[in-house]
Order: sequence, then C-alpha cells, then structure tokens
Amino acid sequence: MSNYKMETKCIQSGYQPGNGEPRILPIYQSTTFKYDNSEQMGRLFDLEESGYFYTRLQNPTNDAVAAKICDMEGGVAAMLTSSGQAASFYAIMNIVEAGDHIVCTSALYGGTYNLYAHTIRKMGVEATFVDPDCTEEELDGAFRDNTKAVFGETIANPALVVLDLEKFAKAAHTHGVPFIVDNTFATPVNCRPFEWGADIVTHSTTKYMDGHATSVGGAIVDSGNFDWEAHAGKFPGLTTPDETYHGIVYTERFGKGAYITKATAQLMRDLGSIQAPQNAFLLNIGLETLALRMERHCQNALAAAMYLKNHEKVAWVSCPALPGDKYYDLAQKYMPDGTCGVITFGLKKGRDAAVRMMDSLKMIAIVTHVADARSCVLHPASHTHRQMNEQELLEAGVQPDLIRFSVGIENIDDITADLEQALMQV
Ligand SMILES: *Cc1c(COP(=O)(O)O)cnc(C)c1O
Repeated sequence: MSNYKMETKCIQSGYQPGNGEPRILPIYQSTTFKYDNSEQMGRLFDLEESGYFYTRLQNPTNDAVAAKICDMEGGVAAMLTSSGQAASFYAIMNIVEAGDHIVCTSALYGGTYNLYAHTIRKMGVEATFVDPDCTEEELDGAFRDNTKAVFGETIANPALVVLDLEKFAKAAHTHGVPFIVDNTFATPVNCRPFEWGADIVTHSTTKYMDGHATSVGGAIVDSGNFDWEAHAGKFPGLTTPDETYHGIVYTERFGKGAYITKATAQLMRDLGSIQAPQNAFLLNIGLETLALRMERHCQNALAAAMYLKNHEKVAWVSCPALPGDKYYDLAQKYMPDGTCGVITFGLKKGRDAAVRMMDSLKMIAIVTHVADARSCVLHPASHTHRQMNEQELLEAGVQPDLIRFSVGIENIDDITADLEQALMQV
C-alpha cells in the first residue's frame, strides 16, 4: 500500500513507467506471452515463478489496474473480473463447496440476490438472507456449522441501506468466517471497508469507477487480514494441497496473497471471466478522476434530495447523506465525506405517477445503468427487480413506487429544472 492520499492514488497507483517507457499504461492487446525456453514456461504453469503466459490468467494492463484499486482500498492483492457479477460469484465460490452456506444481507443488488438466492443454490450452496438492521442476536442465529462467509453492500443498490460494517464484521469473525463487502456505490473514495473489519471487497467497476458508462467490469480485493489457517478446517481449498498444481498449498506458498492467487489460478483458469485489457485501460482512465467525480456526485445528490424533499408532489426521499434519513448516523460514521450520487424517492400519487414522471424527463434519461457521469432514472419494480414478487421487493428494501435516481455531475440547476418540469406533468 502506498502512503499517497486518495486523489493521488487515483492518478499514480498501479503503473509507474520506467525510463523511456510509455507515460500512460499501455493496453497489452495480446493473448499470450513469449518465453525463450520451455523450462521457464513450465515453472510458470506450476506457479513456481510469477510471470505472464496467457491473458485468461493474467495480463499486465489488468494487473496494473487491479493494483491501483488494491491500493485505493488498502488491500494486499486484487484481481479484475469481466463484470461485477463475476466478482460476486468468484468471491464466494473461491471459499465454498457444495453443501456449504453463506449469510447475506437482504438489501442487495438484484443481480447479486438472484446469484446467491437461486444460481449458487443449484450448485449446492445455500444462502440465508438477514435484515441489515437486525440485532446482533438475530444475526448470530443465521449462522450454521457449514457457514463459510458473510456478504453485504456498503450502500445497498437500490435500497440505500448503509450497512453497519462493524456489526457484520464482528459476527463473521466470531464464527470464524470472512466478511465480504460489495463497495460499488461508496467506492474507496468514500468508504474503505477494510478499516471497519471487512476481509474482502468486491466491486462492479462498471459504475462509478469506470464512471462514463463505457465498460462492464468487476474487481475483488483482499485485505490479507483473514487468517485462513486459523480456521483451516473450514477452508480446505486454501489450506490443503491443490492437486491441479502438484499439491501446492495456497496459504503456505502465497501467504497473504493466497485468496487472490487461488481465485486466479483456479477460478479464472476454469471459468474464464477475464476483463478485456481494452476495458481495463478505459477503467483506468475513469479511476483517475474518481475522487473528483465522487465529490460532485455527492454534492449534486444531496442538493437534488433536498429539492425533492421540499416538493409538494414528492411523498418521500431516501439519501443517507440527508439529515433525518434512517441511515444518516451510519453514513456519518462510515462515510463522513459523502455517500454516493444515487438517491431514491416516491411520489404521493404512487407507482403510475412515477412512470409518468420518468417518461416526462428530458435531460435525465431512463437507463438500466446507474452511477455514471450522466443523470439517469430507473424504476426497479419494473426493471432490475422485476423478477421479484412484492414480498421479496419489500425485503430487499424496494418499495413498488421507488424511483432510483442516479444524480450525475451536470450543473445542479439543469438537473432540478428537468425534475421540476417533469413533476409538473404528474
Ligand atoms: C451493478 C452492480 C453489480 C453487478 O455488476 P455488473 O458489472 O453489472 O455485473 C453488483 N453490485 C452492485 C452494488 C451493483 O450496483
């Protein structure tokens, strides 16, 4: 980890060119890497030596960008994935097997909910979903002997629940399992979950990190803090020999790099959800301005939330940075400099009025995306979460009338003017 401040890490971390080398991180647009003798190539395959040989496993462009994100989060090792979904999948699959169990908060991104509630279940891994606001006793009760991880989002998309990170970290550690946090919405600019006890962080880099809606991508970062060997019986994949690599034991050979090395060597090898180096290059450009953009996103979101809160046609507004919000105190604790640019609100006239208002917006677009430079809206009950029934929606913190508003970095006056004219149509 560098000692730079966040704004500097955004620009300088990950890639430091040597004398006469390209100033900007190059795109290593190459599937493969050349070696002079087969002996050395063999050592690379056995993980005895580190180096590049095939881009499905590792690529220098991707590694530089992963190293930047790692530095921003304050971790020890990181990898990029093809999407945020792949990151959420790998982060869990790296430490579970059929017959295992995980504990998650119920306030999750819709895709993550599907993945954990349904898809990994077909692979024999069960998830218990707990209310993020549950008591310590309730949380404790969700664990089983076969529980292998706890998962939550720093700021849930779209419920905007701020997770009590310390409460979840404590429960995970009491039961000898790692706490994994999806830090997509807060970004490391506003919250660094490792400082509050999280062991592993995941990202959909598709959102603020890329920031310009150009590239789908994901990342996994390891804090290096979880002691796999102290709970060796629970994590045989990390602490017993891997026969596909001539019996190496990841924790013995790679120490604090064990988790990410295993995810790369096994999951990326076998499942292949690699981020294209071209996308990593674009992601890196996005990261350079992340600190600047987050500041403006947060300012605009707070201003838009205050505008909506005072509007006679608006029934409710949710924005954790807004005094009086249910999650204001947790937000002040875990992300005092700002939360994110996403807010949600509902109209007094309900679900149909919400759709009508959205259709009347001129600059603010209806898109599935969220968390990029352009303001946009989405109606989760009709779009991202439409596969959920009413009960599941409420458990996920998504009221049927909820409009998700991703406040961009345009001038705030233009944003509120568009809201104003659209609200007049309701
Ligand atoms: C979008 C999103 C994901 C999934 O990421 P993709 O890059 O779309 O696969 C996961 N978690 C959160 C919080 C998200 O917003």
